[in-house]
Amino acid sequence: MSADIVKLENVTKLYYTNSHSVRGVKGIELSAAKGELLLILGPSGSGKTTIITLAAGLLEPTEGRVHLFGKDIRKYSRSELQEARADRIGFVFQTFLLIDSLTISENIKLVQGFSKKDGKAPPEELLRKFSIGHLKDNLPYKLSQGEKQRAAIARAVANNAELILADEPTANLDSEQGYEIIRLLGHYAK
Ligand code: ADP
Ligand code: MG
Repeated sequence: MSADIVKLENVTKLYYTNSHSVRGVKGIELSAAKGELLLILGPSGSGKTTIITLAAGLLEPTEGRVHLFGKDIRKYSRSELQEARADRIGFVFQTFLLIDSLTISENIKLVQGFSKKDGKAPPEELLRKFSIGHLKDNLPYKLSQGEKQRAAIARAVANNAELILADEPTANLDSEQGYEIIRLLGHYAK
């Protein structure tokens, strides 16, 4: 058993299309321990989303090994992986993926409903922590980009996840807002 929350060992991912294969990533070595904030930087197309998707067990590596919570993802059953994602992993998607027809609070409640864990904070409390408590009953379209990003992060931590995977969480923000988001994520990791 390894103490790493997630670990990629010499991971290569090829995507196969009709006529050829496209290299997503090659020979990735990466690990993250509890409390660690790991930033993956690189230009568009360099494989950042591929790495995050592999780390979540949503893609299988073509070569190499992915360990999640100390266990090879190939040893997880489909339902074990689903449970791990619902209970132990929080996602922040590049385009937020807030449900348009639900209020911000309801978006959080929805994700909390996927997890059987105890001890989840009420949505209002989570949103207050991210300084958007006053927006809880709003639909997502009323929020600014920065506020949506905060809501997406509040949702990602709503089930007390041990691993937060955030895909370009600062891409839609100005540098000051971006810095604040990294600070919030770092604070949560501690
Ligand atoms: P990033 O997130 O850093 O922009 P990606 O992980 O999305 O990079 O992509 C890495 C490479 O893999 C790119 O060349 C991209 O075109 C390719 N790729 C990603 N997803 C697929 C897919 N589903 N099918 C084919 N090629 C893909
Ligand atoms: Mg990407």
